[in-house]
Amino acid sequence: MSPWLSGFNAAAWKRGMNQFASAMRGRFTWRTRWDTETIEAEPLTEPAREQPTDGVEKDIFDKCRAFTRADEVRAMGLYPYFKPIEENDGPVVVIEGRKIIMAGSNNYLGLTTHPKVKEAAIQAVKKYGTGCSGSRYLNGTLDLHNDLEARLAEFLGKEACLLFSTGYQTNQGVISTLVQKGEYVVTDKENHASIVAGTLITKGMQGEVVRYKHNDIRDLKRVLSRVPLKSAKLVVTDGVFSMSGDIVDLPGLVAAAKKRSARVMVDDAHGIGVLGKGGRGTVSHFGLDDEVDLIMGTFSKTFAALGGFVVAERSVIEYIKHHASALIFSASMTPASVAAVIAALEILQSEPERIERVHRNADKMRKGFASMGFRIIPGETAVVPVVIGDDLKTFLFWRELFEAGVFVNAVISPAVPPGLQLLRTSYMATHEDEHLDQVLEVFQKVGRELGVIN
Ligand code: PMP
Repeated sequence: MSPWLSGFNAAAWKRGMNQFASAMRGRFTWRTRWDTETIEAEPLTEPAREQPTDGVEKDIFDKCRAFTRADEVRAMGLYPYFKPIEENDGPVVVIEGRKIIMAGSNNYLGLTTHPKVKEAAIQAVKKYGTGCSGSRYLNGTLDLHNDLEARLAEFLGKEACLLFSTGYQTNQGVISTLVQKGEYVVTDKENHASIVAGTLITKGMQGEVVRYKHNDIRDLKRVLSRVPLKSAKLVVTDGVFSMSGDIVDLPGLVAAAKKRSARVMVDDAHGIGVLGKGGRGTVSHFGLDDEVDLIMGTFSKTFAALGGFVVAERSVIEYIKHHASALIFSASMTPASVAAVIAALEILQSEPERIERVHRNADKMRKGFASMGFRIIPGETAVVPVVIGDDLKTFLFWRELFEAGVFVNAVISPAVPPGLQLLRTSYMATHEDEHLDQVLEVFQKVGRELGVIN
């Protein structure tokens, strides 16, 4: 047991656990659940109601000043968020002056430190400077942006592509631009927060938003059957769900959508570079390239940079390009990011062994965790979630791993349903066996200490 837990007292631990659980409840709302609840909120069209003030004038900052929970959790030494990384070599990072194995990054192919990717970014800064100083629409389009769009459209087999400055903005912009008044967006309850953000804007503009149970095609059919057949509709889903790593039942979803003449959009942030032919993602994994109408992705994972994109038929891209507020009113991707993505795409295409390697690494970890008795969520992606099942235990586990030199992501409710609190581990093509073996060894030690495994 680490010094941090020395003098361990079970009763005090339990007391702390209860305190901590109530401290955390509803506090760390950084994924979709809270957002999806908001969908049920009042339509923006209704007039604002006067809030009761008890005669005291309210300040919009009141809630901020009353928010002390993060500090309380910090004081308990358990706060796992916003850890500053001082150096980053891919599989190994330096945090608080210590080398830590990174098993919680989305750098799936390990390209953020690849010499060709770094050099491409450096050369782009030399040629174009550090920023574009404007949106794509006006002064912020470089020849590099057009080059990357052409390459991605070709790679994913669609007519055209449009870059956004982040994946988040891509979802926000595409959904709210395409689904308008009287039209429907049909969305999985566990879709990413950026999809939720897009649906909220749609809702605010009098579009209709309906949700179906997570990856449940029967429920999707039920929901679709209630949407008027004549109304235009878009079904949106994550390809790989980011926390659990599970893959959408795309054949079922596409069949259900086509039956009701709905268009289909897949967010493949975690699928591209990992699944499908040559890393073409979830849609290719199922051979449904011609059936899915829009594929969006991010450059913050496999592509080792920052930005987002959507591919579709030319008329759709042309429409989004001239109507999406998230594109028109936001500065374009920086030259360094675009050049890094072009280099990363070239490496993805020329070094397919990286894809094999990331699968080999994730499979090794899945088998390793399972053989030690951990409950993992089975899958075939680079994400390997280890279920802990309790908020405090998840944080304690996280802290013990961190002390022992392993970084993963602690995911508690409401980001996951109660009982499914987990440590989200994820792997890179560049992890070596020595890194992975150390992760397994530390997990086993901590798992036994905390009674998660025998
Ligand atoms: N979609 C999914 C499924 C994601 O996981 C993310 C990022 N975590 C995004 C969209 C947003 O991408 P970005 O980081 O480029 O904003």
